[in-house]
Amino acid sequence: MAYHTLSFPIATINKMKEAYKNSLVKTPAGAVFSAKLPHTVITAYQSGKVLFQGKNPEIEIIRWSTEELPNNRTKVKKHEYTPLNTLFTANHIGSDESGTGDYFGPITVAATYLTKEQIPVLREMGIADSKKLTDSLISELATKLLELNIPYTSLTLHNEKYNQLQQNGWSQGKMKTLLHHHANTNLIKKIGLHKYEGILIDQFCEPYIYKRHLQSEKLTLPQKTFFMTKAEDFSIAVAAASIIARAKFIKEMDHLSEKLGVELLKGASKKVDQLAAEIIQTRGFDSLNKYAKVHFANTEKAKAYIL
Ligand code: MG
Repeated sequence: MAYHTLSFPIATINKMKEAYKNSLVKTPAGAVFSAKLPHTVITAYQSGKVLFQGKNPEIEIIRWSTEELPNNRTKVKKHEYTPLNTLFTANHIGSDESGTGDYFGPITVAATYLTKEQIPVLREMGIADSKKLTDSLISELATKLLELNIPYTSLTLHNEKYNQLQQNGWSQGKMKTLLHHHANTNLIKKIGLHKYEGILIDQFCEPYIYKRHLQSEKLTLPQKTFFMTKAEDFSIAVAAASIIARAKFIKEMDHLSEKLGVELLKGASKKVDQLAAEIIQTRGFDSLNKYAKVHFANTEKAKAYIL
């Protein structure tokens, strides 16, 4: 559960009360109003302080960010590729990946394009960072997103190819860079160059490193590309991309489990080491190449269970 306290002029607090009129709950002592949304509880005080707390309070904070009084703002490391707050409510593309910390299964990346009209609709649907949602809710929300015909692209880097690239000296950062790049440029081809105000990438490395990875493959950063960490907390397009990427990952894990005849585990825990050992013993060491990111420390740890 995250929380932020921000200061607003009283006129904005009155506007908030009106905006949240269908979600008002009992007002605590000293408060002007309290509203309960699926992902955030907002309590505004007569002092001008507003408390946002819940699974994803940032989504509500950005609605009001232009009216906020200067104070101790949520610390996001800024650089020349940091977007303006106005991007979060404008037509924009967001991209995010999944599976990078999981020993078994592929890396998936998705990019979505949202118009400014769709952003509040998706916020109401409960689109939020996939890391804060259960697998079943992710699949449900991903299905809803696809039903809305939201333009998106997704790419899957399967284990065999991943392991091959890794052996050829590619870092995971370079793989992610190329996946984000192609997901975003494929999406731009779909929707047209002039439709979006910006592309927001959930930052996983410094932007100059991202650019260096692109240059090494003779590619360049598309115009109006921005990076920020925790982007899925601020941008519904990135949050939607994170859901689609995770849903693809979950689906792929189910598919791989079925193929292998063993339920594969997510993450990179000790249980994962034990499962890898079991797979080595029953299917042979080489079979891991199709199911796992073999350079992870889990492979060595698994061997220890066999010796
Ligand atoms: Mg991410």
